[in-house]
Parts: sequence; C-alpha cells; structure tokens
Amino acid sequence: MKSVSVPLSLQQAVMRTLRHKLALASDFLQQTFPEPDVTYRQRGTIAGCARLQDWEIRLNPILLIENQQAFIDEVIPHELAHLLAYHQFGKVAPHGKEWRFLMERVFKIPANRTHQFSVNSVRSKIFIYSCHCQQHELTIRQHNKVLRGKSCYVCRQCGEKLALLDKYS
Ligand SMILES: [Zn+2]
Ligand SMILES: [Zn+2]
Repeated sequence: MKSVSVPLSLQQAVMRTLRHKLALASDFLQQTFPEPDVTYRQRGTIAGCARLQDWEIRLNPILLIENQQAFIDEVIPHELAHLLAYHQFGKVAPHGKEWRFLMERVFKIPANRTHQFSVNSVRSKIFIYSCHCQQHELTIRQHNKVLRGKSCYVCRQCGEKLALLDKYS
C-alpha cells in the first residue's frame, strides 16, 4: 500500500493549531496537558481518530493534503476534544456532553460529529473497522458479509467484535 508524505509546512500548520487549542484548554481548565503525538497513518474515508490510551491523534494524510487548513481547523479540535474528554472524564460516550462541552465552550466551534470533505480519492475497497485495541481493514467482500449478517469478525487480540468506524471516530 502506497504511503503518502505530508509536506513539512502542512505538518507545522497542524502542530500550530494543536498547540493553540491545547493552550485554550489549559487556560479554561486551569491545567496543563501533555502534547499528543500526531501521526499520519489514518486510512480509508476517516479523517482522523483519537487513540485515547496512546494519547495520539491519527490523521488521514490524503484528506489533509486535499483540504489543508479547512481540515486542520475542523479535525484537530475534534480529535483533541476526544483526548481531553478521556483525560478529564474517563471513558465517556464518544460524542457525548463532555466532548460537546470541550468543542463548544472551550474551543468555541460547532460540535460536528462527521466531516463533509469529499472522499472520492480515498474511497477504496477497504473498510475500516475497530475494536477496543486497534483498527482493522476489511475487504469489500468481508464488509458485505457483515452487512448481510453472514459474518461477524472478532479481534484476535482483545476478543471484541469489530464495528464499522464512521467517518470520524
Ligand atoms: Zn482488539
Ligand atoms: Zn469523533
């Protein structure tokens, strides 16, 4: 699978926005937070995902390159709010009131649960599923079997049933 490299200037813009939002959160919550790791390994049509235990934000390099600042302005606070919600409140509903509070009151932006970026270039034959511990890639055949109720896939590591990830997680 080809890997996509994100231009340095774009990576710097990501980090600028991340640090700015982190500073907002520190001011509001009167607390300092470690800077999350940012990686560019998210695949499929998903813009980004927050790896709570790893304190990592995983971004989709193709959607980032295609949408630039619009992507950064929307996805960075979205995923950072997931990390902070976990940090402050523990395991809570992914887009529940804790996450919305961080988006609307702390970052002062609309709490959109899904993104509107065009996914034509990343639409592929893989479908991203997840369990508690990692993401899994299913082929369209496997995905269709799940849809028809003929198969159910389970993670070999954590034993949890795989669920299709939405455009955001
Ligand atoms: Zn697992
Ligand atoms: Zn989310």
